[in-house]
Amino acid sequence: MSIQGLVEQPTIPSDIPYNADSFNKVVMSTYGRFPIALERGAGCRVWDTQGKEYLDFVAGIATCTLGHAHPVMVEAVTRQIQKLHHVSNLYYVPEQGQLAKWIIDHSCADRAFFCNSGAEANEAAIKLARKYGHTVLEIANPIILTAHASFHGRTLATVTATGQPKYQKHFDPLVPGFHYVNYNDIRAIEAAVTELDEGNYRVAAILVEPLQGEGGVRPGDVAYFKRLREICDETGILLIFDEVQVGMGRSGKLWGYEHLGVEPDIFTSAKGLGGGIPIGAMMSKKFCDIFQPGEHASTFGGNPFVCGVALSVCETLEKENILQNVQEQGEHLREGLRAIALKYPQYISEVRGWGLINGMEIKADIPLTAAEVVKAAMDEGLLLVPAGPKVVRFVPPLIVTEAEINQALKTVDKALAKLTA
Ligand SMILES: *Cc1c(COP(=O)(O)O)cnc(C)c1O
Repeated sequence: MSIQGLVEQPTIPSDIPYNADSFNKVVMSTYGRFPIALERGAGCRVWDTQGKEYLDFVAGIATCTLGHAHPVMVEAVTRQIQKLHHVSNLYYVPEQGQLAKWIIDHSCADRAFFCNSGAEANEAAIKLARKYGHTVLEIANPIILTAHASFHGRTLATVTATGQPKYQKHFDPLVPGFHYVNYNDIRAIEAAVTELDEGNYRVAAILVEPLQGEGGVRPGDVAYFKRLREICDETGILLIFDEVQVGMGRSGKLWGYEHLGVEPDIFTSAKGLGGGIPIGAMMSKKFCDIFQPGEHASTFGGNPFVCGVALSVCETLEKENILQNVQEQGEHLREGLRAIALKYPQYISEVRGWGLINGMEIKADIPLTAAEVVKAAMDEGLLLVPAGPKVVRFVPPLIVTEAEINQALKTVDKALAKLTA
């Protein structure tokens, strides 16, 4: 399954000028960046402008499901750009129809809407939920419940939906109509649904991640999600799952909700959907005619280019039985990380996750941070990404091999040995 060797390790220095100071003079400082620039990739490996090789367990933040320079993507991108790449939604886009059909054939959904990112997909779901609240439930002020420690995006509505004050600071006034409850807490959600039924205000939708990604790689509880489904069935409240990070095979099943034994009314996808090209989607089961023509749109959304490429990625996941690899390698990774945790009991408190989205949590009462572990691993040639201050996240391409997992485990062990010496 590995495609190493397709792209040779660069032996000549880069011809792309990279200088952090001049970069920062022209690009807004919205990101805290590590001091390297990556310029080439093949499979699960990338190389920086100095020619240093890294094993990539970030995969563009859980997007590059087929790794880098995968022949299927190279072929699909080339084919689609030569044929037609963008025409707008003024016309029928056959590739969009094909991708929607694939998603519907492989999920509980009946219909799809396409956009360009996770935040945009969630925006669409929020707008749909509000219209549903007004027109179907007849609520003057529909409320959307979301979870503390959630992450739903950076646009104004999705950053409001995100139950983490650190992302909202200085951006108030936030969008009204959101209320937060503790994740995996049945009593909290029951209380909120009852208490928020007052005058013109009522809950119209519950928006949650099947596994909280950015919030620290926290899987949902089966009992909690079963109760969410019951509450929504009893009240008509829409159940919306944000599958942006955990969906499209990352969890070892195609959708995160398959781990929880319940189906949502609406779910969103983005990160892994196009294997690293920018695409987002909102899927709906049953409630497909809430939006009327002209009520929601995106200029780039679902263009021939992204849909043609995403369809090739989807078909490859299936044809090459990649979900089985995700399950097997995920198990192997967690076993290895748990063995490492046993070696450093004063530092590591827990290893958890599904498939190839896993987190290693650092003990709360010690100063060591996830960012420090990530930095130490990077120095040793392994790319990782924090999920909050105390959790190190492992989200390699879904084609990762056992040998690559073993190499990553060895590197994490080495990085921890250095940090704790
Ligand atoms: C990354 C992420 C988003 C936001 O996606 P963007 O493409 O960055 O807008 C939303 N929800 C979840 C669960 C995510 O992980």
